[in-house]
Amino acid sequence: MIYLDAAATAEYKKIDDIIVDTITESMKKYWRNPSSLYSSDIKEEIDRCRKNIAAFIGANPEEIIFTSGASESNNFAIRGWVDQQLMKDIGMINIITTPIEHKSILESVNNPSLGACVRYCDVDRFGFVDYNHLEKLLWFREKEPTLVSIGMANNEIGTIQDIKIISKLVHEYGGIIHVDATQAFGHIPINVEELGIDMMSASGHKISPVLKGIGFLYKKNGINIQPLIRGSQENGFRGGTENTFGIIGLSKAIEYCDVSSDKIEQMCKKRDYFISLLQDKPGRLFNRFKFNCRLNGSQEHRLPNNINITFNQNITGESLLYTLDMSGIKISTGSACNSHSIVPSYVLKAIGLTDEESMRTVRFSLSNDITYDDINFAVNEIKKAIKIIET
Ligand code: PMP
Repeated sequence: MIYLDAAATAEYKKIDDIIVDTITESMKKYWRNPSSLYSSDIKEEIDRCRKNIAAFIGANPEEIIFTSGASESNNFAIRGWVDQQLMKDIGMINIITTPIEHKSILESVNNPSLGACVRYCDVDRFGFVDYNHLEKLLWFREKEPTLVSIGMANNEIGTIQDIKIISKLVHEYGGIIHVDATQAFGHIPINVEELGIDMMSASGHKISPVLKGIGFLYKKNGINIQPLIRGSQENGFRGGTENTFGIIGLSKAIEYCDVSSDKIEQMCKKRDYFISLLQDKPGRLFNRFKFNCRLNGSQEHRLPNNINITFNQNITGESLLYTLDMSGIKISTGSACNSHSIVPSYVLKAIGLTDEESMRTVRFSLSNDITYDDINFAVNEIKKAIKIIET
């Protein structure tokens, strides 16, 4: 099998076994309830992991709140911040986000009982936030509490936002910024302080498939929010017996996350090689089969593992997905969370693709251990699949 859907859930053969072993061992050793008075060893272990994870993003340990994953963290950040504001005697509460965010953001802000006024900032054809529009929206609401929620890297088109510029703008107008970093965490360097982030969501299973059901919300000291799940754990910010094994697994996994420029360059080279084959770049012009594909999202500021392609041929992404599946190649037509939907991707529509173009679009997202041979094989199979579909 060639797995080209790492954005849905990561596959990282090199470390997956290590994480499984670490978790299995921890299940035998730390099975007791971490809150029991005799479980100080487990509390210490969780604190060690918290420190490790905090250090990985340049945060303080008490700023990390463990959750069940990024969907919960996103809901928590938005609902929790609005609830905090509602406790004060103030006027309008504002949320600014973009139309290309993950469903867990869009559905959180669409909640009719949220109690906030929601505005959407425009994005350009690459998926970049329109800074002028953002400034206009911030200026208009300058005197009122405003939360801006922006994804660090888009899960469909891979575009990486300049969070430093965005957070500076948000702070200039007195707002606070939440960043959904689910696709970026563990894949590109993140330092919350340098980037000026107030809250940030992340998830374990985008690093290793074993880590489903574990994630965290980074909440900068001084930012006040209400809990989403009330209880005594996580300093009263998130009730529920801690997922000890997930926390230990996540802490282990980040020890193996290589976000050095060398590693990123290697991944980008593989990604760009894959793209060049699909775009029939010079050197391949005499190949009789022409893909003639269009890359969506930014070429330059792009996740090292993301390729989002609109095919020129008369095929649908869905037919390509099923045909490639028969050759053992796993791809996606967009976000896994929307993969059962037959409506065109809202992300692609927001960056200007027509419904018809969206339907001809697929996402290839590369695993850390993909090889050039895998890419050559996959591209050949894509060619064959297109010929089958077209006949
Ligand atoms: N945000 C983004 C950008 C994502 O890609 C995902 C996962 N598809 C999520 C949030 C939700 O993450 P989780 O599966 O951990 O709830």
